[in-house]
Amino acid sequence: MTTQKLTILQLYPRDMNIYGDWGNVLSLSRRARQHGFDVEIIDYNPGDVFPEEYDILVGGGGQDSGQTVIQDDLHRIAPKLREDAEAGTPMLVICGLYQLFGKEFRTVGGESLEGIGLFNAHTIGGEQRLIGNIVLESEEFGTIVGYENHSGLTYLDGDVQRLGTVTKGDGNNLDDDGEGARVHHVIGSYLHGSLLPKNPVISDYLIRHAAEKKYGQFQPADIDDTLPTRARGVAASRPR
Ligand code: GLN
Repeated sequence: MTTQKLTILQLYPRDMNIYGDWGNVLSLSRRARQHGFDVEIIDYNPGDVFPEEYDILVGGGGQDSGQTVIQDDLHRIAPKLREDAEAGTPMLVICGLYQLFGKEFRTVGGESLEGIGLFNAHTIGGEQRLIGNIVLESEEFGTIVGYENHSGLTYLDGDVQRLGTVTKGDGNNLDDDGEGARVHHVIGSYLHGSLLPKNPVISDYLIRHAAEKKYGQFQPADIDDTLPTRARGVAASRPR
């Protein structure tokens, strides 16, 4: 039997990739290999030809300036991203790209960066940076551990599902206890750190949906999670 293959598309690694976000792609690809898949990683940067086919999209954070650099290109590929998201392609977008997957990011300088509107959410630049270790509780994923560093305050509009409820840290904003957003199989979150090495259950979610979409089924391997469990414990016990 030929080995099944998953292709991970890394969105804007040149401009949107800080606080260890690249680790998400490394961790996800290793996890997919442990589940028995061949893995290909494709980098997509502004001006590149956007691939017709890929199985999981991962995007990271960036400074406001990085977000400005990729903005035009993001709008060029937005119809394809929306189409793929609606078709069930799993995606994980962190911080700066999470903000731009919403409807609008109004920077602290008053500039309006239009988002692609996958999340019914908007972000307003704040004066204060929200920095530190963060812990969430989520019905589907249990306890999620990460690190946040942002000044944008994100508000979910309508009945958009949050990723989790903050038990330590700030999350989306300073007014409610929500963190992140979900639609279709797309997850947006402020959690750097990187997120996936400490939260393999989220890697498994992305891999499962990619495999089911492409091959009709996912047979998970039994993976020893001693190390990520230890890393989660240490990170969660650190002071904010
Ligand atoms: N520039 C955005 C903010 O500070 C995003 C930061 C990030 O991606 N870490 O809100």
